[in-house]
Amino acid sequence: MEIHAETEFQPFSSRYHSEQACMEALIALKWPNGFVCSRCAHTRCSRLTSRRVPLFECAKCAHQTSALVGTIFERTHLPLTKWFQALELFLLPDGISAMRLSQVIQVTYKTAWLMLHKIRHAIGEFDARELLCGDVKVNSDLYGRNPSRPQFPHPYASAVVAGCTVTESDELEQVKIRLVPQKKGDGNRANRHELAVFINGHVDVRASAVQSFPLAYRLYTPLRKVVREAWESLKNTYVALGPKHLQAYLNEYTGRRRLHLPGAEETMQQKLLYMGVAIPAITYRQLIARQPNQSLAAAA
Ligand SMILES: [Zn+2]
Repeated sequence: MEIHAETEFQPFSSRYHSEQACMEALIALKWPNGFVCSRCAHTRCSRLTSRRVPLFECAKCAHQTSALVGTIFERTHLPLTKWFQALELFLLPDGISAMRLSQVIQVTYKTAWLMLHKIRHAIGEFDARELLCGDVKVNSDLYGRNPSRPQFPHPYASAVVAGCTVTESDELEQVKIRLVPQKKGDGNRANRHELAVFINGHVDVRASAVQSFPLAYRLYTPLRKVVREAWESLKNTYVALGPKHLQAYLNEYTGRRRLHLPGAEETMQQKLLYMGVAIPAITYRQLIARQPNQSLAAAA
């Protein structure tokens, strides 16, 4: 058993120890079936290798691109080996702080902070874009309510619609938690119309069997538990988290949860890498606009 486990487990950092190994991995993820021009969809190209980042020139329209365009690595000045190290450290059970990351991979604090935010953004965006599909349950739940002190709702408490997919062995798979913006803090839950809006926007209805739970006393329990865990986790991590940015952090929470699900053949790192290639980088300016205040930045 042990030998088998050892041959299967190959640390990310040893597999991607050189710039070239990292770049080839990104090229393979970007164009899994070979090059496709983003401008004219032509599939033949020439590869220009004179630069640090190899360029691919379309044989038809001469458009030049690289595997980093449209990914979290676009315009980076850092070696990709540092990025791959950061991805691996990000997946540590307790995550990693920007301060610690800056020490380990030897970049400035600001660079490490920005890298971690780009990774988080990719996870959240990726998760938000993928529809629920299969055996789907949908709850009309409340976020931010302490069940033992229901008379004191948190100022950021809000109605949410939560949805999940369930495997054949009754395990929760993908989860989505969506705030219902017009029902913040007043204790009202999403109604049937709001549940239907969620299902239309976030469920692949043609390929799914959907079961709704609109009544407070009859929610789908495993899903309600995840909503409570999200609240516990976010309230502790982001003390100063304002309602304006809560949806983005909920997306990150459910995305990170999904990365840690067992069962898939691909490793967590591979999944994270895939997300990083699928989602364009959030810029420093966009990120600052998203930060509610300084204490959130300090908490990150
Ligand atoms: Zn082209």
